[in-house]
Amino acid sequence: MTPLIAGNWKMFGLKAALAELEALKGAPRGGTEALVCPPATLLAGAAATLAGSGIGVGGQDCHKAPEGAHTGDLSAGMLKDAGASYVILGHSERRRDHGESDALVRAKALAAAGAGLKPIVCVGETIEERNAGREGEVVRAQLAASLPDAAPGGLVIAYEPVWAIGTGLTPTNPQIEAMHALIHAALKARFGVGVRVLYGGSVKPSNAAEIFAVAGVDGALVGGASLKAADFSAIIKAHPAAAA
Ligand code: PEP
Repeated sequence: MTPLIAGNWKMFGLKAALAELEALKGAPRGGTEALVCPPATLLAGAAATLAGSGIGVGGQDCHKAPEGAHTGDLSAGMLKDAGASYVILGHSERRRDHGESDALVRAKALAAAGAGLKPIVCVGETIEERNAGREGEVVRAQLAASLPDAAPGGLVIAYEPVWAIGTGLTPTNPQIEAMHALIHAALKARFGVGVRVLYGGSVKPSNAAEIFAVAGVDGALVGGASLKAADFSAIIKAHPAAAA
């Protein structure tokens, strides 16, 4: 499976930030797939800037309906129309800030698939859940309820322990390996096909190579360190496939 290294810009970036994408275009990527998910206001600009580069753009969320009276929301079709090929769904910040449930994430994944977008569905435990030894149970339940009955084309899962996002903390390599093995096994049992499972949570140039070497890690979802082309391209370069 081609490793996917995706950047989540969250609510950061004005038009001037597109200059970072100009810089990213020339960075060597080898056999990796690179993706940038900017705020929706920059989606069309990012798609235009990256046109022909092979680097994709994605949204950070979509509504579950194809259109309608939903002030302030964006449909999957709108993201696609602006140039997106992927959409991040169920990020823990949306689950926290907007009370998104697994059922809503599932409905959004169906909407994304219906519009021809590949969903990147995020799962991950809180620190309390990990301290209680419940991380496996929590992530299995999130997978069961956040995914449609049939795997959407191009489905990607991002394992993002909530306590590792934006904190500088990362799980140990055996902890990452155990969770990725559990997720791969659950997806294989349910869908019968291989699905890429990304690791996300404080990935940076200094720890990326070590994380990419962990069995079952098919790439990364990168937040803070994706905002600067130099950092994001260093993370891409740290993947063994980048040299291929
Ligand atoms: C994220 O937002 O998905 C993320 C992993 O953030 P960070 O890399 O900043 O921890």
